[in-house]
Formats: sequence, C-alpha cells, structure tokens
Amino acid sequence: MFVIVGFVVAFILIIVFANPRMRGCRWREDRRAGKGAYHCVACGATTVTPDGKPPRMCLADKAPPR
Ligand SMILES: [Zn+2]
Repeated sequence: MFVIVGFVVAFILIIVFANPRMRGCRWREDRRAGKGAYHCVACGATTVTPDGKPPRMCLADKAPPR
C-alpha cells in the first residue's frame, strides 16, 4: 500500500517539476536595485518586498516579454 502511495507522489512531483509554468519563480536578491529588490531568474520579473524576503508567488504575468 505504501509503495503505491509513494509511487503516486513521485509521479506527481515529476509532472510538477517537468512543467516550467508550475515551477514558479526562483527569486534572487538584486542588491544593485536596492534593499528588498528581487529578480526572478525563471521569468525575469522584478519586485520589491517591504520585509526584504523573497516573494512566494510567481510574477510571470508581470514580467517583461522576452
Ligand atoms: Zn517568475
């Protein structure tokens, strides 16, 4: 039984990580842009957070077109 559950979980993880749109943003701090500024290396979006922590959601729809 646990083998089946583990297989299903692994399968879902493979699907999620194989799909770039579901992967979300990978935020990197951009110190040149100022304190609390973050740059997404996945979609190119930039944002500034008031608490200095990386955003949790992806801002791909606000990213400049490539
Ligand atoms: Zn992004």
